[in-house]
Amino acid sequence: MSNWNYSVFWDEALNQAKNELGEHEFAMWFNIQYDSSTENTIVARVPSSFYKDQLARQYQKYLENKLFELMGRRVGIDFIVVKPTRSEAAAVPPDDREESREEGSKGTEAELRPKEKDGQARTRGKHPQLRTDYTFENFVIGDNNGFASNAALAISKNPGTSYNPFLIYGGVGLGKTHLMQSIGNRVWVESPKSKVICITAEEFTNEFIQSIHDKTTQNFKNKYRFVDVLLIDDIHFLQNKLGSQEELFHTFNALYDANKQMVFTCDRPVSELKNLSDRLRSRFERGLNVDLQPPNFETRCAILKKKIEAGRISVPDDVIEIIAKNISTNVRDLEAALMKLVAYAELVHKDINLEIAQNQLKDVFSQSKHGNVTIDNIVRVVADYYKLSYNDLKGKKRTKNIAFPRQIAMFIARDITEYSTTELGFEFGGRDHTTVMHACQKVEERLKLDPNLESTIQALIRSIKEYSSKI
Ligand code: ADP
Ligand code: MG
Repeated sequence: MSNWNYSVFWDEALNQAKNELGEHEFAMWFNIQYDSSTENTIVARVPSSFYKDQLARQYQKYLENKLFELMGRRVGIDFIVVKPTRSEAAAVPPDDREESREEGSKGTEAELRPKEKDGQARTRGKHPQLRTDYTFENFVIGDNNGFASNAALAISKNPGTSYNPFLIYGGVGLGKTHLMQSIGNRVWVESPKSKVICITAEEFTNEFIQSIHDKTTQNFKNKYRFVDVLLIDDIHFLQNKLGSQEELFHTFNALYDANKQMVFTCDRPVSELKNLSDRLRSRFERGLNVDLQPPNFETRCAILKKKIEAGRISVPDDVIEIIAKNISTNVRDLEAALMKLVAYAELVHKDINLEIAQNQLKDVFSQSKHGNVTIDNIVRVVADYYKLSYNDLKGKKRTKNIAFPRQIAMFIARDITEYSTTELGFEFGGRDHTTVMHACQKVEERLKLDPNLESTIQALIRSIKEYSSKI
């Protein structure tokens, strides 16, 4: 059972894709080669990180669904970049794929798993659950993540000893998953015998439920309680999942007692998670909790430059700056804008310049300014929080219990949208812009006096963004 050769299914999936998408589209994007498989993953080679990003973004789900139809089971696809221009062996140094292949194995699980007997890092292939590009080398240490990055580096040097657990929290697209997986990748390469597991909290939950169903909970427990490094992504998913919380609590204790490293990510501070058992919450808070903030302009430029370096495409500095200037909240959006531009330039065979950038990214830029966040959404969420009605907040009444929440709503609107005070005054019951300025001032004064208000406002902003992204 150790050979997982899915190449037949792969070929058929591509065949069907070619028929469905047409020769042209297929030829343009499907520059892929089957490399190898493990039980749950097919590794495919692509010639550049540009292809990799495009495939991951546009076709990965499509192909995975196709494979599911063909195989009757879910396998993921992992794209690895193997640059065709250099000698193959040099192109994938961390994986040492060619060496394994010379030993006669044909892309089987054997080459992806560590060979315990000779115990060399160089024979250790790709980790089946870790993305090869989520490494420290590819991660820009900037104003927003300095502490988190350094802690992560320290942990990967001495897992299980200093900060346990390590929990990274922050909004979407700020690099939590990347940083967490960097720890996994580093340990995986440097400690050839270490056992590393990386999963999302959702996968953990599903697998746990499945194990109950299959009466294999003991296997499940063994799998997670005997690892050296356990990485669990997006633990906010565990809210309301009491059974999985219970199971993770016991896993946690077993690993903690054995000095095994745990790393978690979460989209908010643990204190703001709801329906989470107190004992698990206190475990999460036990080690080191750090947050990632949105990067500043310099860091955004540095990240874009890093991505460009990896893809070997040329993008002039003024273009980098205009992207960094216009997209400020989230690194994922930053990357997506760059990718869109590169894709366009490749299609029309033109070099990227400022004019092309401005034209191509017009929509992206204006969207990122306002997002989906509207005044209406802000009013709804804030009214709901203070148990008032939408009309209360938008209306003219000035009783104290309404006036303050209204000021909060104005303050938040000023903070997270690009509306001017005049526009905001108009939106809030046709008031004057000085009313809005006064409201913001009032809230700022209160912020100095009331230490809890800051976190209330942050929580409201998060809810507003969440609410806005759903509608
Ligand atoms: P999160 O898990 O917080 O939602 P991800 O880790 O998925 O965010 O990051 C989103 C994208 O942004 C990824 O492609 C990641 O490589 C990139 N990214 C985020 N922060 C950085 C950074 N400091 N340096 C380089 N890339 C980054
Ligand atoms: Mg993530």
